[in-house]
Amino acid sequence: VSFFFLVVYMLQEQEAHAAEMERTFIAIKPDGVQRGLIAEIISRFERKGFKLVAIKIVIPSKDFAQRHYHDLKERPFFNGLCDFLSSGPVLAMVWEGEGVIKYGRKLIGATDPQKSEPGTIRGDLAVVVGRNIIHGSDGPETAKDEIKLWFKPEELVTYTNDAEKWIYG
Ligand code: ADP
Repeated sequence: VSFFFLVVYMLQEQEAHAAEMERTFIAIKPDGVQRGLIAEIISRFERKGFKLVAIKIVIPSKDFAQRHYHDLKERPFFNGLCDFLSSGPVLAMVWEGEGVIKYGRKLIGATDPQKSEPGTIRGDLAVVVGRNIIHGSDGPETAKDEIKLWFKPEELVTYTNDAEKWIYG
């Protein structure tokens, strides 16, 4: 009987843990890829304790870039931004973890690298807003939409990382 309760308890724990997990879309833009910053950027998310669940390198079409940045279509820099995103390989990723959307944005830093704190990715590695090397979803809704735009469901890998018990306790 006690074994039965132990199993029920473990399943509940697992469920509670899974419910807290969220996913965000992170992309290294063509400038970050060309500058050889892939490993540096991945390493910051990895060392924090977030889990990589999807990754691929693609050259997005201009049309695709416009879909990705559709919220910004009224902005004066929209066309240049979409030209830039489609100008070379982009490393598209999905990262998973508790609070990964908000904390991912913290790791990335402010949109304008001049205003990003030292210690953030843009603060440490970029200088101007038009070449700020990385994209990260800005909220749960955009995260969901962006993951769906960039990845097919079967490209997302669900797995347990054995380090999780040391990261989450
Ligand atoms: P973030 O990428 O930090 O979420 P936004 O969604 O506001 O920022 O903008 C998307 C991208 O558009 C920025 O990462 C940057 O590459 C580009 N961008 C934003 N503002 C400007 C600007 N004033 N001039 C040129 N490019 C810009």
